[in-house]
Amino acid sequence: MNRAVDPTSDSTVTAPADTVARMTGLPSAALKQELIEIGRDFHRRGWSLGTSSNYSAVVSKDPLQLLITGSGFDKGRLTPDQFVVVDGQGARTEPTHPKPSAETLLHTLLARKAGAGAVLHTHSVWGTLLSEALQHSGRLRISGYEMLKGLSGVTTHEACVSIAVVPNTQDIAALAESLEGRLAAGDPDLRHGFLMAGHGLYTWGADLAEARRHIEVLEFLMEVLGTRRSIPV
Ligand SMILES: [Zn+2]
Repeated sequence: MNRAVDPTSDSTVTAPADTVARMTGLPSAALKQELIEIGRDFHRRGWSLGTSSNYSAVVSKDPLQLLITGSGFDKGRLTPDQFVVVDGQGARTEPTHPKPSAETLLHTLLARKAGAGAVLHTHSVWGTLLSEALQHSGRLRISGYEMLKGLSGVTTHEACVSIAVVPNTQDIAALAESLEGRLAAGDPDLRHGFLMAGHGLYTWGADLAEARRHIEVLEFLMEVLGTRRSIPV
């Protein structure tokens, strides 16, 4: 599958579907299909039940535009008309698209300030429980596990990876503002993702494949740590 951007492409194209195709080198249908398949997989694994979660991919860097799941859809049964293209402020670029998720501002923030080409958000059992248990410490620390090497920039199991835990909130704009300040300051707890307490995990990657690898690694490690807390080892 060729993802390279065609340097000869015409940036004046106005049809949103064609814009997506030109910016990514993929037909938008193919990108949606990848996200649909991710939804099916994450739903099957219990990470995206009951219309929870949202997934996005950057389709244009300048101006910033993301393809993101619309609000309130069952992620196990996504269809191509359940996506929306949003601008850098999280607003729909086409009024005919579905309403974007309330958490869209977190996706646009990560695309602007964390170098994310794709952002994946899950509501797993272990993400919910561990973030609830660790909300007062403000971070989840992970070290000593081989699976850490699946995270970008981590080369040894001896690394200590820290994932920020922030309070859950319905005021996503305020959360985005607070995270923006932390990202700008190079907060080491925000290198790989963050947890919202009692809610779930956000992680990202340079592209969809990397974001997917990161969520698999972090979900695996959270299950390991959660299980380890409950059994004597
Ligand atoms: Zn959520």
